[in-house]
Amino acid sequence: MEKTDILSLSLEELEQLLISAGEKKFRAKQIFQWLHVKRVMDFDQMTDISVQLRQFLKENFCINGLFMQKRLESAIDNTVKYLYRLSDGNFVETVLMDYNYGKSICVSTQVGCKMGCNFCASAIAGFVRSLEPSEILMQIYETERDAGTRVSGVVLMGIGEPLDNFDNVLKFLSLLSDKNGNNLSLRHVSLSTCGIVPRIYKLADMKLQLTLSVSLHSPYDDKRSEIMPVNRTYNIDELMKACRYYIDTTGRRVTFEYAVIDGVNSSDKDADRLAALLRGMNCHVNLIPVNRVKERNYKTARSGVADFAKRLGQRGINATVRRTLGSDIEAACGQLRRDAGSKGGQDN
Ligand code: SAH
Repeated sequence: MEKTDILSLSLEELEQLLISAGEKKFRAKQIFQWLHVKRVMDFDQMTDISVQLRQFLKENFCINGLFMQKRLESAIDNTVKYLYRLSDGNFVETVLMDYNYGKSICVSTQVGCKMGCNFCASAIAGFVRSLEPSEILMQIYETERDAGTRVSGVVLMGIGEPLDNFDNVLKFLSLLSDKNGNNLSLRHVSLSTCGIVPRIYKLADMKLQLTLSVSLHSPYDDKRSEIMPVNRTYNIDELMKACRYYIDTTGRRVTFEYAVIDGVNSSDKDADRLAALLRGMNCHVNLIPVNRVKERNYKTARSGVADFAKRLGQRGINATVRRTLGSDIEAACGQLRRDAGSKGGQDN
């Protein structure tokens, strides 16, 4: 019988399993805290649990750890990039970023990605599988263990499309913010999506306090469909309606991600159209100088990004240029995993 992945269980689920095994309900909370607060990786370290119960746990559950395969530290800005090996031999990437207000971590939600955005290294390497809640959570626990510090923010912007792994991502978010466990407010969490419209509505209806980031990258349907295939299913008009619904339902501001690519989406006309599209919306634009991936010839002139930001600003749209972090360690998502060269590295 396969053992249950205990780090993916909510406190309530753990309580139910223990009660049906004839144990006391309060034991679940003790175990939950060992896992999510003290973060032990071995049932024998749960010293206030009886030997008998520990034995039961060992026979029925596993604590699913990640193995650090690679760790790259930027010489420029303290960014650390991790390549973690999962229990089945697949790889995921995690990036720890150092901002002046604290550390922020970028986690992956899938091994690879199905969405096929043509500027993204994760998409180019293909899709293998979705991550379990514990595998998303453990990227944070392992990285915090390595860094010897807690992170103050989490972004779901690593490899994968979070809304294509909806249930596990939601479970991860509830574990991350559980008051009896890790207890990080979802106000410090951003979830980035390429725009799976029905899932944006579903997420909005849950009224979580997280920030929704939407990867837009062009205000024109033909161009967006060319670089982001998801636009052929959910076009810009449908996406904007879903974003407005999200804002109205949650009261939260939406962020639009826009990777500026010379000759693709960086003209004055693009900026003007983008400004018109977003006018009156409670939103913010995050401009990213495109990270080069070796399969594409895309590039950005820094000055081009600044001009684009200025033009948006003049048209009343709040835009910032994201700092490029870890440029010396390939911190752009998907690049390390793709180059790992073993299982999950070259699947297509
Ligand atoms: N699938 C989600 C989250 C992962 S990608 C999404 O699409 O939003 C995180 C962000 O990085 C997205 O905004 C994505 O469009 C952007 N991105 C991917 N490749 C990039 C590149 N080469 N340069 C700049 N941004 C990139």
